[in-house]
Amino acid sequence: MPYIISEEARDLLSDVKKFCDNEVREQAKEFDKTGEWPKEMYDKAIEQGYTALEVPEEYGGVGLSRVDIAALMEEMAKADAGFATTVSASGLGMKPVLIAGNDEQKRRVCEKILEGSFAAFCLTEPGAGSDPGAGKTTAVKDGDSYILNGRKCFITNGAVADVYLVAALTNKELGMKGMSMFLVESGTPGLSTGNHEDKMGIRCSNTCDVVFDDCRIPAENLIGKEGDGFKIAMQTLDQARTWMGCLATGIAQRAMEEAVAYAKERIQFGKPIIKNQAMHFKIADMEIKIETARQMVAHALTKMDLGLPYSMESAIAKCYASDIAMQVASEAIQVFGGYGYSREYPVEKLLRDAKIFQIFEGTNEILRIVVGNNIVK
Ligand SMILES: Cc1cc2nc3c(=O)[nH]c(=O)nc-3n(C[C@H](O)[C@H](O)[C@H](O)COP(=O)(O)OP(=O)(O)OC[C@H]3O[C@@H](n4cnc5c(N)ncnc54)[C@H](O)[C@@H]3O)c2cc1C
Repeated sequence: MPYIISEEARDLLSDVKKFCDNEVREQAKEFDKTGEWPKEMYDKAIEQGYTALEVPEEYGGVGLSRVDIAALMEEMAKADAGFATTVSASGLGMKPVLIAGNDEQKRRVCEKILEGSFAAFCLTEPGAGSDPGAGKTTAVKDGDSYILNGRKCFITNGAVADVYLVAALTNKELGMKGMSMFLVESGTPGLSTGNHEDKMGIRCSNTCDVVFDDCRIPAENLIGKEGDGFKIAMQTLDQARTWMGCLATGIAQRAMEEAVAYAKERIQFGKPIIKNQAMHFKIADMEIKIETARQMVAHALTKMDLGLPYSMESAIAKCYASDIAMQVASEAIQVFGGYGYSREYPVEKLLRDAKIFQIFEGTNEILRIVVGNNIVK
């Protein structure tokens, strides 16, 4: 069962399917080998407006509901999860501004995204992953500027973004309570990129270090108030996790479709292997998991759209969808037998792509802590 979406989104969905079939699905195999960031493919996606789907209507966006957008994002992830991650990371980068920015900041960032810029969300540091409150990047007030120093790592879109949302300490003594959120634009002196990650999956997404070396930005680029940065970062991740659940569901759906198609073609013991009931049970288990993940994503997004609390639902959606994406991709390899283990066939890539969804935007261990705390309190 796909998401229940509006008529407008249904039209857009068929455009996204065509785009992904023509521009992403096959091409991604090559980018998976080379690890290149395919600018031409992304330029075409920008032209179609796919990188700006999350821009709110009041700032010039298309005005779809979050569930509508999920249907489009799942389709992109089915074609290639690296492509979908790049697109979705702009939504992630925009969120701190949409959550806590003033009207001018929201307008500025949304305009940039609509013009085709990418955004990046810079929280993680070498010594601060699951524990982002241990971050060491600083922002020191100097007249009507802040001067940023520090190193962020594993930043999606790090080398290709025009807009960076950066968590930095304005008061080191206060730890996470002294953290603030800043908007930094590409080209600002002192902003550079470092080590590029050579990843096992989502290889056509860009992941690298982002370095701040006496990087001076206008004081008006502070998002919200000094000391609000950690709260804004957590609210950002609370929302963004559901989107990662949506992408992981797309990987699982693709894995099941590949498995079914192969099982219809592969003859053993004189008949297609799909004719074995054991195979039906495998496919049924895949579908049960995928549909449950999709409905959890839809539930969390609907709560967001309605302005209801969604923190725990978002954690469940990401945790469950990424766990089942790993299981379904692994079972799809099993359906392909030895061919599934070969790089010539599409399913081993799906397993590699799925793994990161158990790790970023809060590892699944950390998300189980979030869910546990919600229940216990
Ligand atoms: C491809 C990729 C893209 C990314 N994109 C971004 C991005 O755009 N922006 C950004 O800011 N970050 C990004 N990240 C960083 C990502 O969010 C972190 O890698 C993640 O939060 C985990 O942090 P860590 O890698 O330091 O692992 P660690 O925190 O060192 O964790 C290592 C292991 O210990 C476990 N663990 C840690 N603490 C506990 C605990 N209290 N209880 C139980 N288990 C625990 C973890 O679950 C994990 O299994 C990205 C990472 C990757 C790999």
